[in-house]
Amino acid sequence: MRFTPTELTDDELALQSDVRDFLAAELPPGSYMPGLGMSAASDRAFSKKMADRGWVGMSLPKEWGGHDRTAVDRFVVVEEMLRWGAPVAYHWVADRQTGNIINKFGSDEQKTRFLPKICAGELGFSIGMSEPDSGSDLASVTTRAERDQGGWIVNGTKIWTSNAHQNDWFICLLRTQPLESGGNKREGLSQFLIDIHDTPGLELGPIPFLNGEHHFNEVSFTDVFVPDENVVGVPGMGWNQNTTEMAYERGGPDRWLSVFSTVEQLLREAEGTAMGERTIELLGELAARWWGIRNLSLSVARLIDSGHAPSIESSLVKEMATRFELETIEKLVELVDTELSLESESLFEQLLSQCVLTGPGNTIRGGTIEILRSVASKGLQGLPV
Ligand SMILES: Cc1cc2nc3c(=O)[nH]c(=O)nc-3n(C[C@H](O)[C@H](O)[C@H](O)COP(=O)(O)OP(=O)(O)OC[C@H]3O[C@@H](n4cnc5c(N)ncnc54)[C@H](O)[C@@H]3O)c2cc1C
Repeated sequence: MRFTPTELTDDELALQSDVRDFLAAELPPGSYMPGLGMSAASDRAFSKKMADRGWVGMSLPKEWGGHDRTAVDRFVVVEEMLRWGAPVAYHWVADRQTGNIINKFGSDEQKTRFLPKICAGELGFSIGMSEPDSGSDLASVTTRAERDQGGWIVNGTKIWTSNAHQNDWFICLLRTQPLESGGNKREGLSQFLIDIHDTPGLELGPIPFLNGEHHFNEVSFTDVFVPDENVVGVPGMGWNQNTTEMAYERGGPDRWLSVFSTVEQLLREAEGTAMGERTIELLGELAARWWGIRNLSLSVARLIDSGHAPSIESSLVKEMATRFELETIEKLVELVDTELSLESESLFEQLLSQCVLTGPGNTIRGGTIEILRSVASKGLQGLPV
């Protein structure tokens, strides 16, 4: 395991300053409702503006519309966007993982078709992994794709598909060979690119959050035809590809900045008033822990740039970071005397109410705490994860 201390270079600090200037001009505080990290709003126009700056698909090759930048450059951009609560949801998944997967495993035809649009901020992707009976044990997925003339016929159900109603396509992990009894469930899986809104037989239904918000979807497939050209990589090798995809999901600033805009708002609202001792103590503790986790996460980005695949390190960062986020929410709630409400006059209290409702999901999405610990411990023992 490697967590080498590292700092931003002068060029990276210059990029950080550009992003800060952009945000100050585009989204002055008070002019918009800050989001909670990557759960922020979906705004195609904002994604387009970021893409025009070269900040979407940054590390993808220029040949396919990308910018040949580093993982640390992307870290710098997303750290600023998330702490600002900017509306990044539309391009989020495509930028963080789908573009990388298509670039790594996709055909040239798929790269030509999808990557330039992703880099232009014009194509939003969702994640089609979980199913009603397969979450942590993802290799047990049963949604099946069976061979047909020129393609595959898909039947089954995906669940918890974030923002599928706002995005355009998703990559689905499907079973392309039936699982024999006693067989290896990691074999016979494949990844498919599927248009969410223009595919006969595909139905999308909302699963409302506790507060009624529409974030999750259930996607059902009834005899859906998917052509061969939409299979990513080699049929049957989907498990390995999917594991690579999940590695892009963990360890980045999205795992420790969901509560940041809430804490910043607490500070804004306290400006000019005497803060109580408990608040000052809490802010000191949060700042120290944030800085520590941030440096571990930055170190993961440097590892990626030096050619490593830091799945153990990124699992540990996600485990620590999302646990920290939950603890932060609990401690903030203890500070507030009044009953929390989404309708509160204080923006801080509105944001904190939102954190209470959605915070528990932070430790579940992208792999639960138990699963991340298991990935790290198996990895440290040299066992397959
Ligand atoms: C906000 C949010 C967004 C999401 N977005 C998406 C999305 O866009 N696309 C998508 O495909 N999925 C998405 N998910 C689903 C998410 O990936 C799953 O919820 C997660 O993988 C857990 O699966 P599960 O809910 O089936 O729980 P289960 O796997 O049933 O787990 C239940 C509990 O048992 C524990 N457990 C399970 N197996 C083990 C084990 N082997 N050892 C120890 N403990 C274990 C878990 O840690 C958990 O505490 C999202 C979830 C959330 C909360």
